[in-house]
Amino acid sequence: MADATRLDALIVGAGFAGLYMLHKLRGMGFAARALDAASGVGGTWYWNRYPGARCDVESMFYCYQFDDGLSQEWEWTERYPAQSEILRYANHVADRFDLWPDIQLNTRVASAVYDETGAVWRVETDTGETFLASYCIMATGCLSAANRPDFEGLDDFEGRVFHTGHWPHEPVDFTGRRVGVIGTGSSAVQAIPEIARQASHVTVFQRTATYVIPANNRPLDAGEQRDIKARYPELRAAARKTFGGFAVPTGRESALSVSEEECRETLGRAWNQGGIGFLNSYIDFGIDEQANVRAQAFVRDKIREIVDDPETAEKLLPRHTIGCKRLSLGDDYYATYNRPNVELVPLGEEGIGRIAVDGLTAAGREFRFDDLVLATGFDAMTGALSRIDIRGRSGMALTKAWEAGPRMYLGLMSSGFPNLFAITGPGSPSVLSNMMPTIEHHVEWIAGCIGFLRENDIREIEPHLEAQESWVEHGNEVASRTLRYTCSSWYLGANVPGKPRVFMPYIGGMPSYMEKCAAVAAAGYEGFELTPA
Ligand code: FAD
Ligand code: NAP
Repeated sequence: MADATRLDALIVGAGFAGLYMLHKLRGMGFAARALDAASGVGGTWYWNRYPGARCDVESMFYCYQFDDGLSQEWEWTERYPAQSEILRYANHVADRFDLWPDIQLNTRVASAVYDETGAVWRVETDTGETFLASYCIMATGCLSAANRPDFEGLDDFEGRVFHTGHWPHEPVDFTGRRVGVIGTGSSAVQAIPEIARQASHVTVFQRTATYVIPANNRPLDAGEQRDIKARYPELRAAARKTFGGFAVPTGRESALSVSEEECRETLGRAWNQGGIGFLNSYIDFGIDEQANVRAQAFVRDKIREIVDDPETAEKLLPRHTIGCKRLSLGDDYYATYNRPNVELVPLGEEGIGRIAVDGLTAAGREFRFDDLVLATGFDAMTGALSRIDIRGRSGMALTKAWEAGPRMYLGLMSSGFPNLFAITGPGSPSVLSNMMPTIEHHVEWIAGCIGFLRENDIREIEPHLEAQESWVEHGNEVASRTLRYTCSSWYLGANVPGKPRVFMPYIGGMPSYMEKCAAVAAAGYEGFELTPA
């Protein structure tokens, strides 16, 4: 134990959550360090370098708000910034706030074990180092643990295999190559048009057809950027009052309160405008089946309009509730299927068959290609945590405590795991929101909490089991009133075989969630057990 590094707080992850947590705690005088398995900062934007990767929250709002100087000085170039630009921003933040001395890269946390006697987390890494920290903060990301399905024969494939969430750093050239892509979620929707422009042939293996709304990406002009910056306080305050913290206009009426024609006209305007605001055109697409059917029909008609070959168009038509799975944004996705070098293969019940040295079998046919792209997503929300051997009181493993699904109070802490915090954990709005303000909210709450513990000489904080269970119950109850339960989404863990089906993010909306967190803190951390030193 002599060579263990002693810290006040150890942060796992140096994405946007870890960077701000580090900045905040250092500013409060705590000895803190952020570890990351990556060789750079930026998290999602470090790992997801696939062609076409960009965010789908507008750049002017997909950024930190905590520092005015930063907000005003950083210039975005496009409506939706590309991965490389967001990564530059993350690096700029690390430079600007001089975070580098307390960031340790190329270091994967393997285990975190709570020592009840010393009230300390003992954290071990794959580099053989040990850290002892009073607080351990998991900034490990909701979408950072790649889902690499166990396809039979995958290791036999002799060509190149890529996962969108672990894309190589050097440019990948697909020129003249035959490429197989498995998956048609948001990553695939962005990557497929780009790969198809280069490759000689692309075969897309589709398990579930996807609703894709145009992004309508475009350069940002200086005047527009200046105007938004001048109005940041007002615009950001307004965004915080919306369900997901998105700065997009939200309709106030039911889609069923207007004629079908009027509904289509409104959706047509939203479609042309582009962006995730499409489903905010009316208030009830997320809760009323009949209203939802109107939006579904609109998008299906658009697909039939865009795609030349009626058979291909038919295969591309999503049949599930729109918005049940995460909506995808993209430019050219459906039109890409008009290219002669792109083939769509809907997977039947049996899914992907055996992968061979030079292709795979699916839908009763054999396909040959040189490269295979797995756009198969993530073991979302719990994956990064369950890949660390986390043990709380009495050696209880987090994976055991969460056997039937994750259980957290406010998505921040879990009973039996004192002084262990998660940023955007299961039970918080996280992936249903614009994640930048959500991350900031969590970081500020956690920093406030740790400051309170110091001021009041409190050794441990941990949620009461009843408070946690009632929050989990409440989350399930709110989710069951929405249409999100009606499809096999990653929100429910349905994309990972064997994962319990539990709706993981909190779907009650940002405003009520933030109010609840503030009320809990104001009441002296109501629902938490505080153990004095
Ligand atoms: P991450 O950025 O995921 O960072 C977590 C870090 O923790 C990673 O660097 C990882 O290496 C590290 N880590 C994990 N486990 C360990 C370990 N055991 N040891 C050491 N290090 C570890 N959100 C939006 O709001 N809008 C968008 O448009 C949007 N687009 C997205 C596009 C893609 C392709 C993806 C995958 C996600 C997108 N998201 C988007 C969600 C995105 O993840 C968040 O916006 C945000 O970047 C999350 O930041 P984070 O710091 O919480 O997590
Ligand atoms: P995803 O949405 O989970 O999509 C994965 C795709 O792979 C789905 O089509 C899925 O089919 C398919 N798939 C998974 N396992 C399979 C299997 N065993 N056999 C065949 N097909 C399989 O993952 P993602 O596209 O990486 O996106 C994840 C999330 O990251 C998004 O929802 C979003 O939150 C974020 N993201 C955002 C953007 C953006 O534009 N800002 C871009 C990329 C990602 P099923 O649908 O049938 O499961």
